[in-house]
Amino acid sequence: MINRRKFIKGAFFTTGALWAASRVKGASISGANPQLPLVISTWAPNVKANAAAWEILSKGGKALDAVEKGVMVPEADPEDTSVGYGGLPDRDGRVTLDACIMDEQGNCGSVMCLEHIMHPISVARQVMEKTPHVVLVGDGALQFALANGFKKENLLTANAEKIWKEWLKESKYDPMDTIKHMKTKRGAGTKDNHDTIGMLAIDKSGNISGACTTSGMAFKMHGRVGDSPIIGAGLYVDNEVGAATATGVGEEVIRICGAHTVVEAMRYGKSPKEACKLAVERMNKLRKNKLEDKQIGFIAVSITGEIGAYALREGFTYTYRLGDGVDVIKSADFLI
Ligand code: ASP
Repeated sequence: MINRRKFIKGAFFTTGALWAASRVKGASISGANPQLPLVISTWAPNVKANAAAWEILSKGGKALDAVEKGVMVPEADPEDTSVGYGGLPDRDGRVTLDACIMDEQGNCGSVMCLEHIMHPISVARQVMEKTPHVVLVGDGALQFALANGFKKENLLTANAEKIWKEWLKESKYDPMDTIKHMKTKRGAGTKDNHDTIGMLAIDKSGNISGACTTSGMAFKMHGRVGDSPIIGAGLYVDNEVGAATATGVGEEVIRICGAHTVVEAMRYGKSPKEACKLAVERMNKLRKNKLEDKQIGFIAVSITGEIGAYALREGFTYTYRLGDGVDVIKSADFLI
């Protein structure tokens, strides 16, 4: 059990923290935390996903339902080339999807390298709810999805196929991270075009859940899996402390168990932003000069409703809605 009071003390700057302190101390002040419900997602375009999550949260629905429904928005969006339908394929032209979900009780489910299913997040949820396992991969994940009523679909859009065929001309094995992705034709002139989504939500009851879903790095080796579907790397949730999720070059996030590192830093007193910064700094120290051209970003939320983010370099955005229902889009602070 953490020293909850110490943790709260470090976060006394928000109304949400004051509310949580009263809750923890068992004071008679009742009523809702004014920060809640809340939802926060990686990348500015995911403001649309937040709206879908908000539909559920604002009606008193569960955070788990909210994050699932929220991330289904970019999964189904053919214009979104980094998640679900329309996602850029691997170097063999196959769209392989990764997703995971985690709730306030530590229940979690994940699918990796799943093909032909538009909503990997919902398959991940069913892995969590209907099996004794946490992870299903590849053909096994597909078989499970089909047995549970999911439809087999072609996820390679004409646009994604065109971009892949362009890449094939050189076939240079150099899977695109966020920064390179921004320099593609599609990304030219904008910093906000990348939207692999990690979403965290706290519902009115104060319960927290998270979801993360991606098509991974464009033109990766077939079978490559990044951080996004790995519990503790791309996503981690702890109802006593808070939650965190990551985006960017998954290999770097996995190396430091990114999301779990952020949550543990919050457990021992860091604010969400400080905790995200600590993870980025650790990664940078570990990898010395090897992070050139790479981007990694974390977002985090404490169970008190305080939010924060931090990235390796400029260009990482995130978006949230708190209890007042207003959308906020922000650029994260960065290290280098
Ligand atoms: N983290 C994802 C991966 O490495 C990609 C991303 O967030 O851009 O697969």
